[in-house]
Amino acid sequence: MQNLNKNLSNHSFSHIYVEKDARHHPRALKILDRLKQAEVIEINHYKDVFSRAHQNYVMQKVAPKLILAIKKKHLIYRGADVCESFGHQHFYYTSTMMNCLYNCEYCYLQGMYPSANIVVFVNIEAIFNEVEQLLKQQNIYLCISYDTDILALENLVGYAREWINFAHNHKNMTMELRTKSANFHAIEDIPPSKNVILAWTLSPVQVIEHYEKKTPGLNLRLSNINKALEKGWQVRVCIDPIVYIKDWREAYQQLIKTTFNTISKDKIKDVSIGVFRVSKPYLKKMRKQLPNSILINYPYETKNGICSYPYSLSENMVNTVYSFVRDYIDEDKIYQ
Ligand code: SF4
Repeated sequence: MQNLNKNLSNHSFSHIYVEKDARHHPRALKILDRLKQAEVIEINHYKDVFSRAHQNYVMQKVAPKLILAIKKKHLIYRGADVCESFGHQHFYYTSTMMNCLYNCEYCYLQGMYPSANIVVFVNIEAIFNEVEQLLKQQNIYLCISYDTDILALENLVGYAREWINFAHNHKNMTMELRTKSANFHAIEDIPPSKNVILAWTLSPVQVIEHYEKKTPGLNLRLSNINKALEKGWQVRVCIDPIVYIKDWREAYQQLIKTTFNTISKDKIKDVSIGVFRVSKPYLKKMRKQLPNSILINYPYETKNGICSYPYSLSENMVNTVYSFVRDYIDEDKIYQ
């Protein structure tokens, strides 16, 4: 619980909104027991709080409230085109939580959700059931930590463990858990599964300091990667999103050098590289939330509804980072 308290800075989770239907769910009771100090407010539906009009995302982000709910529909989604499928034909993602403890300035969730409060769907079994139905038809690649950072909330919710155990018993799925956390210790007692990939997003120190508020520093993420590799986990390194900052070339060169001189590079499963990109409607909303953000208000170009850096800059950044990574990692393990 010490780590949990350290993670929950300011007055995060001072209030917990609980759907009536979730009130007596064993997982809700466990979470409420871990946050005894919080004021608990019963609600009918999570959207009564989460989807209210005129919420201030930026203010809420400083000290988010927690919402415990029952997920009733839209349990699994097809992977978006802007996301890397790593060669998998049947690519899906699922959201057992919405929103994140961290506060990255470039996070698309600001454009996607009306609120920064964190929703935890306590009925993960319903999602497991739906995954099992899909698995009867085909092998799938499932990302479980896209619209949140599951491992960052592991001490409170415990879903990384539940998903890993589920994947262990369903070998025809490949599961990716993406994180910026330094919370590997919360799952280090679990034997690694070949069909589970722990994916760490890494950024230059300058990007972490300016644009990834509340996240663990680079060294902590790297030491977590090494611990996971030592235990035999499959680890993916994600240099994504690459953001355009002053001296970006040197910053990313230093990142790649530090990363592959620190971690056991021969044990890395693969590396994913991509520049910042976001859908046009999300960017419009993000600009309203963050009118002074240089990163968000960059004059991005729009192609097929996706906003990103002008093509030549984008290509230059990806190719440059690719060439840095290629000095350490075989080409067939690099995705861009
Ligand atoms: S860690 Fe990911 S999900 Fe969380 S705020 Fe940052 S970009 Fe968003």
